[in-house]
Amino acid sequence: MIGSAFHPGFLAQPYWWEAAPPETARDEPLPKRVDLVVIGSGFAGLSAALEAARGGASVAVLDAGPLGGGASSRSGGMVSSGQKLVLTAALKGLPAEKQLAALEDSKATFEFLKDLITREKLDADLQLCGRFFGAFAPKHLETLKRNAETLHARTGVTIRILSREEQHEEVGSDYFHGGFVVEDYGGLHPAKLNRALREAARATGARLFSHARVLGTLRDGDGHKVSTERGEVRAQHVLYATNGYTDTSSAWLQKRLVPVMSYQIATEPLPPGMMDRLIPRLRMVTDSRKELTYTRPSPDGTRILFGCRPRALQVEPQRLALALRARMLRFWPELSPIRITHAWGGYVAMTADRIAHVTEKNGVMHAVGCNGNGVALMTFLGWHAAQLMLGRTNRRAFFADIPFPAVPPLTNTAAFVQLASAAYHLRDFTANPGEVVAERLGRPRRSTTTTTKEARE
Ligand SMILES: Cc1cc2nc3c(=O)[nH]c(=O)nc-3n(C[C@H](O)[C@H](O)[C@H](O)COP(=O)(O)OP(=O)(O)OC[C@H]3O[C@@H](n4cnc5c(N)ncnc54)[C@H](O)[C@@H]3O)c2cc1C
Repeated sequence: MIGSAFHPGFLAQPYWWEAAPPETARDEPLPKRVDLVVIGSGFAGLSAALEAARGGASVAVLDAGPLGGGASSRSGGMVSSGQKLVLTAALKGLPAEKQLAALEDSKATFEFLKDLITREKLDADLQLCGRFFGAFAPKHLETLKRNAETLHARTGVTIRILSREEQHEEVGSDYFHGGFVVEDYGGLHPAKLNRALREAARATGARLFSHARVLGTLRDGDGHKVSTERGEVRAQHVLYATNGYTDTSSAWLQKRLVPVMSYQIATEPLPPGMMDRLIPRLRMVTDSRKELTYTRPSPDGTRILFGCRPRALQVEPQRLALALRARMLRFWPELSPIRITHAWGGYVAMTADRIAHVTEKNGVMHAVGCNGNGVALMTFLGWHAAQLMLGRTNRRAFFADIPFPAVPPLTNTAAFVQLASAAYHLRDFTANPGEVVAERLGRPRRSTTTTTKEARE
């Protein structure tokens, strides 16, 4: 069974790396002195480097591993205007003017990304294909309807609410109990975006170094000494853009982030016509589970990419892939003979207040805390952090204008994440026990879809 589920060329690495792999850049020695050291070569770090270098600053981007090897090239590539901030309770309790700023700046993240891709001519396969949000349980549909209306009222996006019958226009599956579509959202190729940002940053004069783990930073006059595995760099400004990969080099930052794994699989190319039945409009698709499912066509429309979050334990990739496949077959049983070609995971960073932050501490800037939703957000925050550090703006975005709380003790441990994951699983079980049990037993759904007529009967 395990063998037949996998393509003979199966790789435990992101599908995205086929087109745009992470990059080794370790030959050149590190510079002795720069205006800005950026720690991390994901969307946040590269966007900051691009903005700083564009304005004439000398910039060194240092990454512990290969360039672009973090979450940014492992992502699902779904892009939106921070809908999570609008829909979760994250903004509750904040003064009205802060809530308004949060909404405005969340919208700005997506507009910023679209504009950046156009302005810099970034090759990122951006498609404004819309997203379907599906109800995992019958009782979730009412919540989703309210969410859709909130999104429309507060962010102005175009929404369409769909009954269980109507959802088949969007997704060829009986898994959902209705849902809604946001037309304005989209998807891109995250590893291509990362590569394009590397190229754009370099073209403006930024220098990028792989395998240069930062070990710590020290205040040095009005600047900083940055010590790395490859020697020391002096910098006027330092930006931490390490998100879910933050390590012991900043104990202060580690106390503020909970790293959580998210996983994905990719199928081999589907037979002609199959994608038209599974996701006819080539939308991004997510569900309302606590253990969130996210799935989409590859940008070329040939494969299904299928992801899930959170899972606490790092287990052997093929076993994880089978767990994801079991859920995928609950969506679409006709994928049963289709083999898996890639499986991978990556870390996102959760924060205590579920809000991302741009915060300065002891003269060091930080742009982190995507809470799982960071393609547009982290690109925006890197840019904003660079603007603030280099004194190019007086306006602080919402994310830079609120305190960055530490997470409660022990909540950033693997054991806690595992506990939280179990609680999420239980919540999903309570909402729809039949579905959770069938997935656990690896029982594919019997038919892919009832037709609209059958559903009415
Ligand atoms: C599987 C998966 C699916 C996702 N799907 C989506 C999605 O569909 N839509 C969405 O909006 N978001 C999604 N996300 C989240 C999104 O990808 C991230 O929020 C975003 O990429 C984070 O970018 P970043 O630049 O902040 O960090 P990263 O891209 O994670 O980069 C951090 C970098 O810091 C480096 N680093 C760490 N410590 C050091 C050190 N001491 N010295 C030097 N370098 C260091 C790491 O090596 C790493 O390269 C997903 C994430 C994952 C993992």
